[in-house]
Amino acid sequence: MNSENQFDVVIIGGAIMGTCTAWFLREEGFAGSIAIVEKDKSFAKASTTLSAGGIRQQFSEVENIRLSQFGIAFLRTFEDRFATDPGYKEQGYLVLAGDEGAETLAQNCARQIEAGASSLLLSADGLRQKFPFLDTSDIAAGIIGLKGDGWFDPHSVLMAIRRLLRGRDVEFFDAEVVEIENNMEKVTAVTLADGRKICCSKLVNAAGPAAGYIASLAGIDLPVEPRKRTIFSFDCKTEIAAMPLIVDISGVWVRPEGVGFICGVSPPHDQDGEANGQDFEPDYALFDEIIWPALASRIPAYEAIKMGHAWVGHYEYNTFDQNAIVGPHPRLSNFYFINGFSGHGIQQAPAAGRALAEHIVHGGYKSIDCSRFSFDRLLRNEPFLERGII
Ligand SMILES: Cc1cc2nc3c(=O)[nH]c(=O)nc-3n(C[C@H](O)[C@H](O)[C@H](O)COP(=O)(O)OP(=O)(O)OC[C@H]3O[C@@H](n4cnc5c(N)ncnc54)[C@H](O)[C@@H]3O)c2cc1C
Repeated sequence: MNSENQFDVVIIGGAIMGTCTAWFLREEGFAGSIAIVEKDKSFAKASTTLSAGGIRQQFSEVENIRLSQFGIAFLRTFEDRFATDPGYKEQGYLVLAGDEGAETLAQNCARQIEAGASSLLLSADGLRQKFPFLDTSDIAAGIIGLKGDGWFDPHSVLMAIRRLLRGRDVEFFDAEVVEIENNMEKVTAVTLADGRKICCSKLVNAAGPAAGYIASLAGIDLPVEPRKRTIFSFDCKTEIAAMPLIVDISGVWVRPEGVGFICGVSPPHDQDGEANGQDFEPDYALFDEIIWPALASRIPAYEAIKMGHAWVGHYEYNTFDQNAIVGPHPRLSNFYFINGFSGHGIQQAPAAGRALAEHIVHGGYKSIDCSRFSFDRLLRNEPFLERGII
């Protein structure tokens, strides 16, 4: 801790969003003092380490496409810069649609191509030829991301950036923030569970699913809550070569992982409320009732699969419009947010961290314009709607 217990930037949460923000503050030439406060440095319950690690350019809004494109560029050079293999597999991302969703899919594809993505729209026939293991009888179209889309290992990426951050003059506190002081115009300090106080010139909320709670400590209503998501692993005796990550029309997603596969689905709408932040018990019924039937009918080889283990993570779910909230608060102008990514945050963390760092250092965005992710839209009641939320 510096002698006066005062830091220029204090970041609450040391997983991917907090770490990327600190990393890009230094990349932007920020020479001030930085502290990261993290309550669980094992990251056992963090969204980051429990994530599926998918990355895709298949969004409808150009900002989301560009954030992921920067993530792809970051991953491609990651090993050279961080001396760690990020486990990045550019094996593609295939989003399927029935008659109902085909028009939207085509519009999204046009937007993606315009933004420089190598997305390819395929008819049912085209899909059958390219992916003979699929049953396409109820499929109208699909988009395959040919370059860049795929998945990576979030845990390796997080640990590698944290390791290098230690050499870049960042102070790490193993502690929980329990209070935030403010004078109605600015936040001034955070109090830790052990009673210590850290004063700050700027404060960043990178608390993932707990972001809503952290905002409430400063009297701010942030519509971000934990939502439970279960991931299941399974084995299949039949080999399926070069399979991309597939998002089925049922909402079920599946991808290869090692010699087996992992999969998941969002719970039905009426069962998908705010989660108890301590609930990490897998919802096995989702596998039996939704996932397995959907997989077996889409990929006949999956009729004989054996479920392995399952784990739960919490989305940091933005109940307002399921899009990220990035930038300063309109009233408490030195309180910054990087929250609410609702299931597509791991791929966007490098670009979002860079964007927030630019805002903190320069007072505005320099690379990707993230104005539409601003907190203000919540107050104006103007949702920023993205059609490619999974
Ligand atoms: C099951 C699952 C699958 C996912 N799949 C994908 C995917 O395929 N692709 C994709 O792009 N995204 C995916 N995501 C989303 C992605 O993982 C998240 O958007 C991202 O990890 C959020 O990072 P974060 O740093 O904000 O949150 P977290 O990783 O949760 O980190 C927040 C940190 O804040 C700390 N913290 C909280 N409160 C306090 C406090 N009071 N004091 C100190 N520290 C505190 C926590 O301990 C935690 O370490 C998935 C998420 C889940 C749960």
